[in-house]
Amino acid sequence: MINKITKKVVKEVEQVVSEEFVCDVCGKKGNYRSETCGSRYESAIYYRVTTGHYDWGNDSCDSIENKDACCTDCLLQIFSEWLNDKDVKCSNSAYIHIDKECHIREKKGGTE
Ligand SMILES: [Zn+2]
Repeated sequence: MINKITKKVVKEVEQVVSEEFVCDVCGKKGNYRSETCGSRYESAIYYRVTTGHYDWGNDSCDSIENKDACCTDCLLQIFSEWLNDKDVKCSNSAYIHIDKECHIREKKGGTE
């Protein structure tokens, strides 16, 4: 017979327990507020900037980039960098798209 030798193995698994918004410009975390979301959730307002161009036909989807800004100052920095980008200056079809978004997360220790 074959004796099975067993050993307990503990695997470490990384799990997302909470998400948060982090600004791509200044690296600040979102300013989460709970006034409008009740007791269980809190939210942070941010700007999602999408840039790209249509210069290469079907491959243009590769040109799409996203950046998130926490405030109007950071948004203006992204915008002025985009305006001064040499690829943007040379492009006939560059675009910049700005969405105001809200990141909602569950509050730590929140009640139902
Ligand atoms: Zn910022």
